[in-house]
Amino acid sequence: MKPDINYLQTLQTVFGFEGLRGGQQQVVDRVLSGRSSAAIFPTGSGKSLCYQLPALHLPHLTLVISPLLALMKDQLDFLKSRGIAAASIDSSLSYDESREVMRGVKAGEIKILMISVERLKNERFRQFISSVSISLLVIDEAHCISEWGHNFRPDYLKLPVYCQQLNIPQVLLLTATATPKVIEDMGVKFGINAEDIVVTGFYRENLDLNVVPCPEKDKSNALLEQLNKSPLAPTIIYVTLQNTAETVADNLRQQGVPAFAYHAGLPNDKRQDIQNRFMRGEINCIVATIAFGMGVDKSDIRTVIHYDLPKSIENYSQEIGRAGRDGQTSTCTVLANRESLSVLENFVYGDTPDRAAILAVINEIGSTSQGNTWEVMLNRLSRDTNIRQLPLKTLLVYLELEGVIEPKFSYFADYRFKTLVSVENILAQFDGERQHFVKAVFDSSPKSRTWHTVDFDALWQGYQSDRQRAVKALDYFAEKGWIELESKQMTDVFNICRPDVCEGQAAHELSEYIHQMFQNKEQSEVERVHAMLALFETTTCLSHRLARYFADEHAPERCEHCSVCRGDVAVLPSASDLPALDVQQLKTASQPLFDAAKNEAVTPEATARYLCGISTPLTGRLRVGRTAGFGQFGHYPFAEVKALCEQF
Ligand SMILES: [Zn+2]
Repeated sequence: MKPDINYLQTLQTVFGFEGLRGGQQQVVDRVLSGRSSAAIFPTGSGKSLCYQLPALHLPHLTLVISPLLALMKDQLDFLKSRGIAAASIDSSLSYDESREVMRGVKAGEIKILMISVERLKNERFRQFISSVSISLLVIDEAHCISEWGHNFRPDYLKLPVYCQQLNIPQVLLLTATATPKVIEDMGVKFGINAEDIVVTGFYRENLDLNVVPCPEKDKSNALLEQLNKSPLAPTIIYVTLQNTAETVADNLRQQGVPAFAYHAGLPNDKRQDIQNRFMRGEINCIVATIAFGMGVDKSDIRTVIHYDLPKSIENYSQEIGRAGRDGQTSTCTVLANRESLSVLENFVYGDTPDRAAILAVINEIGSTSQGNTWEVMLNRLSRDTNIRQLPLKTLLVYLELEGVIEPKFSYFADYRFKTLVSVENILAQFDGERQHFVKAVFDSSPKSRTWHTVDFDALWQGYQSDRQRAVKALDYFAEKGWIELESKQMTDVFNICRPDVCEGQAAHELSEYIHQMFQNKEQSEVERVHAMLALFETTTCLSHRLARYFADEHAPERCEHCSVCRGDVAVLPSASDLPALDVQQLKTASQPLFDAAKNEAVTPEATARYLCGISTPLTGRLRVGRTAGFGQFGHYPFAEVKALCEQF
């Protein structure tokens, strides 16, 4: 059934477009018919309009979850330029600004609100948003929800639950890159019917795809050769490391190519300046890490060169997707070899926690002194167990899925405020029991020079008032402009549902089981690295194979504009044989790590990570990231190094 809303008029008057493209129309129709839907469109094909247009016709708020501040800002600028009442609540806003946004949302003046998923862990925000009627939940970059895709974000796994708790009637998932497995996963998690998942073609007939086999040592020359084919074309050269961006740019300048490095290590203003000049066409050649491109919408990028291998097929697809947005022929070239295979694989191994560390987390849950609840600050736990933040979050989600713990809420352990009017003035606004309570809050909040810090325990002991009431009161004071309120030290609180499995033999078995889950994930990540190499060595059309990887079955069998169709099947050069390793050599190289650790035991896994140059909380805490042994064996397979470390 077609909705009888005349959105085409809105499309013209508000957005200035004459019509929708095929995929867009299908999605908009579904959303306006009240169905949950998913839009899987390539980058640059107007996914955002799929929620922006319906948002103006839906009765209540459209809540958008977006993983990147930069993406949010771009979309907000666009919406504001069209006179649409949209806002975000994020860390860049001042206290007054976010208060004003919340007021506008509550009053129904703001139609679209953008937030990060982490915002939903904030108890104050959840309290606020649950008092607002929401028509539609939009999840941008929705592939983050699947463990089998790239950029998995554990917090996204909780979105289906939030959606229910907030009584949101329908969802819209947006992504540019999803394999059939990821699409299925997303659909199941949100109960989206197969016919409401709209996939438009991935095949881009204006992209000329090339794989150039090239040993590492010949890359500089090969790059120059590629650039000389169209010297003045707007070009992005992608590299993996910030360091490489600098050296490649320097090299090119020495060869007379005015190239500029762009990476997250540059000061913000300098980066912005380079980006602006590139957009205006004053700079033609940028050597960038993947920090570049998020939110860059330059339509006439003619050349994308991968100097280093991309991280995955998904990354490759996103990065080449920035070329030729204007539909003109553009060239994408990968300079490929297998020499850095170990380096790529070793990125994966840094994220698998040791079995002992998993057990330590489980035991900590079992030994908590707070009855059936477990309160934890992730920073502290990450440091203590040497598990990186992302896998640690994944571990907690795994424990949730196993029914061991259940998230209750998150809160800020510390609240502090400064008064903007006198305490007497505030007290005078209340009478009776409420005045006593407010007085108790102030009495329990000792003041240093300007800030009062709330002592919730004292408040409980002196007045038997729980923190929830106090937080609510403080929020109210802040809303009234009587105080300025700050919160910090994010703490997650869980219910412990299965204390029996957190001790003794059962805990051992559980840690074994979960370690296996991480190993499966690790295996699947390593396979993704190999799938990418297999793509670049394909003997059938590259464009066709890439499209099929993303569930597009309609690409031509032969595109006639890729290196394979031109008859060049790539055979990638392997690493020249590395000299064999011995235990003594690794032991010597590990000495700086052991010295720094003093009496603390270091596991073979942790030692191997150090030697392979994989950063962990431990290497950060011991400050060994710049010592001689760190990364000394980064080109060796992690498994080989680890096996030798086990013989120390
Ligand atoms: Zn082809």
